[in-house]
Amino acid sequence: MATTPRVEPSLESLSESAHVVVVGGGFAGASVVKRLANRPVRVTLIDRHNFHAFLPLLYQVATAGLEPADVAYPIRTIFGHAKNVRVRHAGVKNVDRARNVVILENDAEIAYDHLVVATGAIASFFDVPGARSYAMPLYTLANARRLRNRLLRALEDADVAADNAAVFLNFVVVGGGPTGVETAGALSELIEIAIRRDGLRLDPAKVRIRLVDVAPRLLTAFPESASVYAQKVLCHKRVDVDLGRSVVEVEEQAIRFSDGERLEAAAVIWAAGITAVGTLATVLDESSGPSGRVLVNGDLTLLGSTNVWCVGDAAAIADEKASSQSRAAFYPQLAPVAIQSGRHCAIQILSVLSGGVTTPFHYRDKGIMATIGRRAAVAKLPHLGVIKGTLGWLAWLGLHLWYLVGFRNRLRVFINWTWRYFDWPSGPRLIVADAETAP
Ligand SMILES: Cc1cc2nc3c(=O)[nH]c(=O)nc-3n(C[C@H](O)[C@H](O)[C@H](O)COP(=O)(O)OP(=O)(O)OC[C@H]3O[C@@H](n4cnc5c(N)ncnc54)[C@H](O)[C@@H]3O)c2cc1C
Repeated sequence: MATTPRVEPSLESLSESAHVVVVGGGFAGASVVKRLANRPVRVTLIDRHNFHAFLPLLYQVATAGLEPADVAYPIRTIFGHAKNVRVRHAGVKNVDRARNVVILENDAEIAYDHLVVATGAIASFFDVPGARSYAMPLYTLANARRLRNRLLRALEDADVAADNAAVFLNFVVVGGGPTGVETAGALSELIEIAIRRDGLRLDPAKVRIRLVDVAPRLLTAFPESASVYAQKVLCHKRVDVDLGRSVVEVEEQAIRFSDGERLEAAAVIWAAGITAVGTLATVLDESSGPSGRVLVNGDLTLLGSTNVWCVGDAAAIADEKASSQSRAAFYPQLAPVAIQSGRHCAIQILSVLSGGVTTPFHYRDKGIMATIGRRAAVAKLPHLGVIKGTLGWLAWLGLHLWYLVGFRNRLRVFINWTWRYFDWPSGPRLIVADAETAP
C-alpha cells in the first residue's frame, strides 16, 4: 500500500537563514558541521549511527585492545552546544534534487537549501564468491565487535581442542594495505597475550596468521623500504605473508586460492578494499567516479549543481597535480582528505550564502602511517621521508590521540597504550554476544 510521505518542516518557520543538510557524521561530515556551528545558517546533521566513529582504530577494537566506546563519540555530545545545529539519528535512502529534499529510510523528507553528502564508503568484496557471506569486513564498529567475538571464540575453541595433535588454528587476513597489516600484527599480539597471560592451552606453532595480497609487496602506498620493514616485523610476529596470490572463493571456514589451494580458517578478515557502490553516493547521478565515488567540481559541488556537495571518501576529488607528479588521478580515501574537504566545503557554502564565489579545494598532504604492532610502525611524512620502528610508532600514537574526539577517550586510550608500551597486557578480551553474534 502506498504511503503519503511525511514532510517535516525545514525549520524555515523558525528562522530565515538557509538550511544546510549534512548526511554523514564521519570525519568529513563532522568537519563540515564544526565549521558551520554557530554561524548564521541552520544545519541538520543526519547519521544512521548516533556516534562518530574513529575508523583507523577499529582494528584495535577487533583485536581486543580497545573498547568500542574508546573509539566512538556521541554526535549529539559533539554538537549539542551549537544552537544552530540539529542532529537527526536516521538513515537517508534517496535524494530528490528536483525538489531539494532528502528522503529518510522511514520515508520522511527533509528539505534543504544546500546538501552535503558525506556518507563514506563500505567494504568491497570484488564479487569474490562467498566473501560477502563469510568473510568479516572491518569498516564499522559493529564489524569490529563481531570480529572480536569471532576471534576470541576461536581461541576458546582451540583451547578445548588443544589435546588433539592434528588441530591447527588458521586466521586469514585478506589485504596487505594498512588495515590488513595492522590487524595481522595486532592479532598476533592478542594470541601471544592469550597464551602467555590468560593460560590458553595453545601451541604457538599450531596457530598461524596468513596475510594474503595479490600485490607483490605490502603497503603499496608506501615506499618499498617500508614494505620490507613491515614484512620483516610481521614475520617476527609469526605472520605468514603470502604475496602475489589471489583469493577466488571464501567458504564458511576456509578460503580457496586461484591456484586451487584450499586453506581452512577459523576467521577470514576482509581488508581488501572499499567502494562507494551501494551507499547514498550511488543514487546521485554523478556516482561514476572510481569505485562508485561521486565526481565533483574543484569546489566540491556535484557536476552540474550549485547546491549539492560531496566530501570525504564518497567523493572523487581530482588531484590537480596528478599528471605532473605521477600520482593517482584522485585524492586518496584518507581521514585528512575527509577532514580538509569537509572544512573547505563549509567555507564555500558560507561564501555562497553571503554572495561570494567559491574556490577550488587543495589537499595539504599530511602523510600516511601504519602500525605493525607494539613499538613498530611506518610513517611516510612530507619533508621527513619514511620513519620506522619505535619513532614511527610514537608518531602514530601522537597523531591518533590528537585526532580522537573527546578528552575522556583520549585519556583512556593514552593509558591503555602506555600499559601496552611497557608490555603490561590490558584490553577487553570479552566475548559480549549481541544481536549479530548471539546464537
Ligand atoms: C579500518 C580502517 C582503518 C583506516 N585507517 C586509516 C588511517 O590509519 N589513516 C587515515 O588517514 N585513514 C584511515 N582510514 C580511512 C578513513 O577512516 C576514511 O578516509 C574516513 O573515515 C572517511 O571519512 P568520511 O567522513 O568520508 O566517511 P566515514 O568516516 O565512513 O563516515 C561516513 C558516515 O556516514 C554515515 N552514513 C553512511 N551512509 C548513510 C546514510 N545513507 N544515511 C545516514 N548516514 C549515513 C555513517 O554512519 C558514517 O558515520 C581507515 C578506514 C578504515 C575503515
